[in-house]
Parts: sequence; structure tokens; C-alpha cells
Amino acid sequence: MEEKLEKRVETYLEVESVLNDFFKELDFCYENCLTQEESLFLSDLPGHIGCCSYNQHDQAVFPFKEILDTKRDEKYPKPEINYEACDYHTMDGCLLGDHKPPACITYVCPKFRTYLSNRFDIIYDNDHLNELFKGILSGKTEQKEISRFKSEFNYYIEKIKFAQTGF
Ligand code: SF4
Ligand code: SF4
Repeated sequence: MEEKLEKRVETYLEVESVLNDFFKELDFCYENCLTQEESLFLSDLPGHIGCCSYNQHDQAVFPFKEILDTKRDEKYPKPEINYEACDYHTMDGCLLGDHKPPACITYVCPKFRTYLSNRFDIIYDNDHLNELFKGILSGKTEQKEISRFKSEFNYYIEKIKFAQTGF
């Protein structure tokens, strides 16, 4: 069982890194939200908080959460308590480069989703991706869905690169 769980976390991190590459290519949050006066999530939040106003990593409930929490704690030191936002949040965004819970890694606010659709014709489905990530840890997500996700998002990465640079 332990070995299976280790493998699932490994797969989770692989899939998370594809989604991270996708977000890096866009750099939408930093430019349009985190460096602005108001958050795109809620206008009564300062921009630098984005959509990270509370400790979602603690409060999220999903199967096999403990294994991801343990691995995260092994890699990242416990952050200071942040009374204004999530403890992992900084002025430059999330401190975590990986090991984020499914809701954190997959969430895209409505304005960001509209941008993806209008600019790149990408229909981004938060709920579907959240389920896919949770299912990797619980063993519910099938290998063919993982492969489909990887191909789809690697294709999007190339599409974004092409739209932004022409090659
Ligand atoms: S997902 Fe939306 S609200 Fe959250 S940081 Fe990015 S732009 Fe801001
Ligand atoms: S863990 Fe990171 S992405 Fe999730 S709420 Fe905290 S700062 Fe935001």
C-alpha cells in the first residue's frame, strides 16, 4: 500500500509540473493581479493576495491528503502565520513550487478563465481538473486520463508560445 501511495504522489507531482509549466508560460496572475491594487478574485482584497486569502492547504478535504501534506512538510519548512492571507502566501505569490493541494494548483478565477478562452481559445475547467488531481492520489483517475491531460496541456503550452512569439 505504502509503495502504491508513493507512486501516486510521484504521478501527482509529474502532472502538477505540467500545469505549472502551463501557468509559467502565461504569467497572468503576477502581471494582472498580484502587482495590482485590487485582486481579480474579489475587488475588496488587495491585489497581492490574489485568491489566497486563507489556508486552503489545511482546510481542503480530499482522499489521501495526509500523504501530500507529509511530503510537503518534508520539503518546505512550516511558514510563519500570516494573518492577512494563507501562511504560504508572499508578496510574490505562493511559496510552494509544488506539492500544492488539488484546489490550489488547479484553481483559475473567472477573469483568468475568460482570458484563456478569448486569447487562446482554451476552455479551462477548474472542477474537472480538481477531480483529476484528487483522483490521482486516491487511485480513481485512470492512466488514460492522465495521458490525455498531459498531451492536452503540452499542446496548450506550445499553442501559447506560438501565439506569443510566433514560433
Ligand atoms: S487565479 Fe485570478 S485571483 Fe487568483 S491570483 Fe490568479 S488572477 Fe488573481
Ligand atoms: S498554498 Fe499557495 S496557492 Fe494555496 S492558498 Fe496558500 S498561497 Fe495560495
